[in-house]
Amino acid sequence: MEYSGEQFDVIVIGAGIMGSSTAYQIAKRGQTVLLLEQFDFLHQLGSSHGESRTIRATYPENYYSGMVIESSRLWEEAEAEIGYRVYYKTAHFDMGPSSNKTLIAVMECCESNAIPHRVLTPKQVSEEFSGRFELPEGWVGLSTELGGVLKPTKAVSMFQTLAIKRGAVLRDNMEVKEIVKDDERGGIVVITSNGSRFYGKKCVVAVGPWMRKLIKMVMGLDLPIQPLHTTICYWRIKEAYKDDFLMESGFPSFASYGEPFIYGTPSLEFPGLIKIAVHGGYPCDPDKRTWAPTLLGDYVSSWIENRFSGRVESAEPAVAQSCMYSMTPDEDYLIDFLGGDFGKDVVVAGGFSGHGFKMGPVIGRILADLVLNGETKGVELKHFRLGRFEENAKGNVKEYED
Ligand SMILES: Cc1cc2nc3c(=O)[nH]c(=O)nc-3n(C[C@H](O)[C@H](O)[C@H](O)COP(=O)(O)OP(=O)(O)OC[C@H]3O[C@@H](n4cnc5c(N)ncnc54)[C@H](O)[C@@H]3O)c2cc1C
Repeated sequence: MEYSGEQFDVIVIGAGIMGSSTAYQIAKRGQTVLLLEQFDFLHQLGSSHGESRTIRATYPENYYSGMVIESSRLWEEAEAEIGYRVYYKTAHFDMGPSSNKTLIAVMECCESNAIPHRVLTPKQVSEEFSGRFELPEGWVGLSTELGGVLKPTKAVSMFQTLAIKRGAVLRDNMEVKEIVKDDERGGIVVITSNGSRFYGKKCVVAVGPWMRKLIKMVMGLDLPIQPLHTTICYWRIKEAYKDDFLMESGFPSFASYGEPFIYGTPSLEFPGLIKIAVHGGYPCDPDKRTWAPTLLGDYVSSWIENRFSGRVESAEPAVAQSCMYSMTPDEDYLIDFLGGDFGKDVVVAGGFSGHGFKMGPVIGRILADLVLNGETKGVELKHFRLGRFEENAKGNVKEYED
């Protein structure tokens, strides 16, 4: 086999948050690494662009909170290295009907993971937030300390810059079409649609919503990762209340449990607007999307009107932006060796199911461990195995679900 391209210890495919933080981690360990991206760097066509992502330690599954805590530390380390801010800390506030099984599981996880938390009645919530949140009777609030906002595009740029500073090579407009085994010298060859060929001893595939397409093309395996077209909305705060929703006024990142799951962040990226969005969307082909934002029904308007006591204009959003989720059936991540002929030479990481951004730094650490050492410590990966869908098409069974 002939090689026209360069040679690396590891080739990382996909320069979203996962690929970029992985390239940084690998370069930091003194290994040569190439990061390939199909579009321009920092494009807006995948999942890691935009103005804000929530970080919170509250999860109904026991296995995510510890990862968030490590990730939070790694966000701060990266910020210290680059010298600017991508992580704005606040408290985090969850709410929902007290009978909601997922919210009950979240509270149990706070207990079992020793996450400092306070459970609040509607009256206590109203006092705590000076009327900014109002919960109906039968609802409950959960206040935790680890919360806040991450700046996605700036954070991806940060990891790419840090990776370059550590010697990584970054190439955009390189659409990977093939990953093949190099039978002569071991390792793999990555081939792009413009005919470039790169040799790597190992490879990490972190291509977000394109995961199913690429892995199908590479080895005929059909991963259960469904891209969803989703929409983020910003709503106008009424003039008299603008300051109430700022971080500086103690306003937290928040989530509301139930159908639908609603989440949001303090007023930060657009003056006078607050992000309030619905977790979910519509199945899409990542290469044939409608770019139009799609709004998700009247429920959100009445939720805003009632929860924020009329302080936010609820008729329609002021700004709507589209984005893509990569959903697995159980909404757990997919992190594993690709296996087959590739064995442990190719690591895949996808299916972040709309809750991966906060984990970017810890996922980068895990993927670097897996691809360089064949194993990782500190995080139990059994929930993220590829094989779980062979045992049960729905994946991990969640005890708290109906
Ligand atoms: C609206 C919205 C809100 C969200 N809110 C939150 C939140 O509040 N908190 C949170 O933690 N998470 C949140 N998420 C989820 C989080 O943003 C994603 O989990 C995360 O960004 C996924 O990153 P990724 O690197 O896996 O994918 P991507 O960012 O999509 O990166 C994959 C990259 O691979 C490239 N690529 C694809 N195919 C190829 C190829 N063949 N060759 C080369 N390159 C290729 C793509 O162009 C892309 O740049 C949200 C997501 C959305 C869309």
